Amino acid sequence: MRTGPEYLKSLDDGRQTFFEGERVDPITEHPVMGTAADWVATSYETFYDPAVGATSPILVPPRSADELRERIPQLRRVDIVTRTTFGSLMAMLTAADRLRDVQGARSDNVLAYHQEAALSDIRITECITDAKGDRSLSPKDQPDPDAYVRIVDRADDGVVIRGAKMHITGASFGHDLMVMPTKRMKAEEEDWSIACAVPVNAPGVKIINSSYAPRSADTRHFPVTSHEHMPDGFVIFDDVFVPNERVFLAGEGRYAAVFAHSLGLWERIGGTSAMAEQADLLVGFAHLVADANGTLKYSHVKEKIAEMVIHASLIRAGLEAALLHCVHTADGFVHPNELYTNAAKYHGAANYNLMVRHVHDIAGGAVLTAPTIGDLENPETGEFVTKYLQGRKGVAAEHRLRLLHTIRDLTADSHGGWHSVTNVQSGGGLYAQRIVSMNHYDMERARGLALDAAGIADWAS
Ligand SMILES: Cc1cc2nc3c(=O)[nH]c(=O)nc-3n(C[C@H](O)[C@H](O)[C@H](O)COP(=O)(O)OP(=O)(O)OC[C@H]3O[C@@H](n4cnc5c(N)ncnc54)[C@H](O)[C@@H]3O)c2cc1C
Repeated sequence: MRTGPEYLKSLDDGRQTFFEGERVDPITEHPVMGTAADWVATSYETFYDPAVGATSPILVPPRSADELRERIPQLRRVDIVTRTTFGSLMAMLTAADRLRDVQGARSDNVLAYHQEAALSDIRITECITDAKGDRSLSPKDQPDPDAYVRIVDRADDGVVIRGAKMHITGASFGHDLMVMPTKRMKAEEEDWSIACAVPVNAPGVKIINSSYAPRSADTRHFPVTSHEHMPDGFVIFDDVFVPNERVFLAGEGRYAAVFAHSLGLWERIGGTSAMAEQADLLVGFAHLVADANGTLKYSHVKEKIAEMVIHASLIRAGLEAALLHCVHTADGFVHPNELYTNAAKYHGAANYNLMVRHVHDIAGGAVLTAPTIGDLENPETGEFVTKYLQGRKGVAAEHRLRLLHTIRDLTADSHGGWHSVTNVQSGGGLYAQRIVSMNHYDMERARGLALDAAGIADWAS
């Protein structure tokens, strides 16, 4: 297994990665990219085992309902790229299982890749969202055929791919990019039906990063995002060769959706688990800031907090149901229940911004304008900051200040904006979750109940 320092060294491999107009080299010394890499290195250190042949426990696929139940919350305690590594591998294993009968050799490639990835303790990011061009047109009808990643050349030993994958979380911080089709492909769209693993430093790969990381000299003003943030990458594949053993789908258009759906499932269970924690965290903020402000007794504040409690409890209930009703695959792995995963993810994402509004409503304007800890420490201003930032007697002004900074950092600053869009779009957007929920819901049973209640025995033929 790799140590944190070994991971940091491994990033110095010639990868072409860019930030705000400039090539980043080395990543570890960049003020924004470097702290994100440190976050990933911290998780490596947490799980490091010096034994020969040891593999990271966080990357072992769950084989029972209990293991799945253990693994999902564990992932909340690691950095995002370790999470996407787990998600990519689980999605590939789920897809391989679903396609074993029809493309056995490619499914074997997946199993071999998974073993090698676990043994070499690499990190992998999920590359599914294409540039997509005109959304009303299929890949083959786009004026620019590269709007969706596609195969542009085939040889005996592999394929060459071209295109771009957008918004890829942590793309510059993994070792491999797991490329999958973003959706079902139609007849004559064989070239766009490509799933494969590409090293980040492969010739022809370029990554342009964007980041919500704070650019403040005083990191205390951003208590969370100063050390926990992850740039998203716009990943360009400019005629990249991929050898056969790293290709998992190459032209079988009718199977393309299997990969997209498998990744969607693992991405959404991760999202649901994250939102369950976030929702409890927001309840905690709302309660503490109302306490600090002296408003905990007012009925409208109590009602808002109660609504937040119900929201948080429903997400957690959906998460629990998704894990409890998991599905066992023929390959011996388990995956979460599709309906409960998608319904819970949808509920959490659709209502997140309302819950944030409640926190802002309860907290007051100081969420945005509270002075910094530096102002508190400055002898010329500190005494006034303490005096006027005091809320209810008994709660220290400094504690109220720290609370307000953390609420701003997480919900009302750069990360807050990132979060409000991410919750809606991640895992394929709200529409995708509605479709999957509809596909897995027992509509016949619901119709039967309604017909029974209405006393109708012979509904239309
Ligand atoms: C911060 C962040 C991180 C992300 N991380 C990753 C990642 O790690 N890996 C990854 O692969 N993706 C990632 N995503 C991408 C995410 O999955 C997409 O943003 C999402 O699937 C929506 O795609 P889009 O952004 O291209 O928007 P669009 O597809 O353009 O969607 C915008 C709206 O248009 C609607 N729409 C689009 N096309 C149609 C159509 N044909 N018919 C009807 N309605 C349509 C959609 O339903 C939606 O309402 C991330 C996104 C964000 C914001």
